[in-house]
Amino acid sequence: MDQLLAPGLYIVATPIGNLGDITLRAVETLRGVSAIACEDTRVTGKLLHHLGIKQRLVRYDDHASEETREYLLRLAGEGPLALVSDAGTPLISDPGFKLVRMARDRGIAVTSLPGASAAVMAITLSGIPSDRFLFAGFLPSKDKARREVLVELAEVPATLVFYETSPRLTDALEAIDDVLSGREVAVARELTKKFEECRSGSARELIEHYTANPPKGEIALVVGPPLEKAPEEHDVDALLLAALGDAKASQAAAQVAKATGLDRKALYARAMELK
Ligand code: SAM
Repeated sequence: MDQLLAPGLYIVATPIGNLGDITLRAVETLRGVSAIACEDTRVTGKLLHHLGIKQRLVRYDDHASEETREYLLRLAGEGPLALVSDAGTPLISDPGFKLVRMARDRGIAVTSLPGASAAVMAITLSGIPSDRFLFAGFLPSKDKARREVLVELAEVPATLVFYETSPRLTDALEAIDDVLSGREVAVARELTKKFEECRSGSARELIEHYTANPPKGEIALVVGPPLEKAPEEHDVDALLLAALGDAKASQAAAQVAKATGLDRKALYARAMELK
């Protein structure tokens, strides 16, 4: 990137473990900005050292003072300012939301440079349906609050994704086993790092595994969507009656079996009774 960067706030995703997972554009942007707002100057300092970049670093998180935010917005208004977090995509369970909102409110240009995020990587690895998902950040650490959140999410017709810590993994899985029982779960651990693993199964199987092999490192949890509920009997009758029309009982049973996943033979027997 030979051109000078325009003033504004540049949200820059950084690796979640493997330092090779940073885009060319991210490197050029970190090199080209006039300062970088970061969560922890030591963590970002190490990344910049690896990239051979020297930059002015300003510590920032969403609990920072209004004064710090005003200072950063002034920098972004006058020149290019990057925002990074310790790892992955800023604002995804990381600081930045307040700064981005205020920048937008003030007409400061905001650009987001896509890159690594553990949530997206976990979904793509897990083999659990990825067409619709809800990212729910960290589950609460207290059991009662954790279960309340899971109850609230239980009816959402989507895959769920959480961030978790290794000491809390089995407690979280116990709650998932109780509240979201029967749903497929994947534990995506140490992604992009040497001991990366993605282990899936029922919550109970995973509890057994991780009780015997206490996990280390960073974890993202993926929980499959709610299981299809068997339609109520009268719904089945209505479906069969609708399918029967002029059709034979066998055809109606096959059609309803395909739509509901219910047993074709049982549906055929019921269709014969209804006919
Ligand atoms: N902003 C980051 C992102 O885009 O993924 C997430 C930051 S959040 C403070 C940190 C949490 O993300 C960890 O506790 C863990 O749950 C998850 N995480 C980060 N890196 C990970 C990795 N390499 N493998 C698995 N989970 C990871």
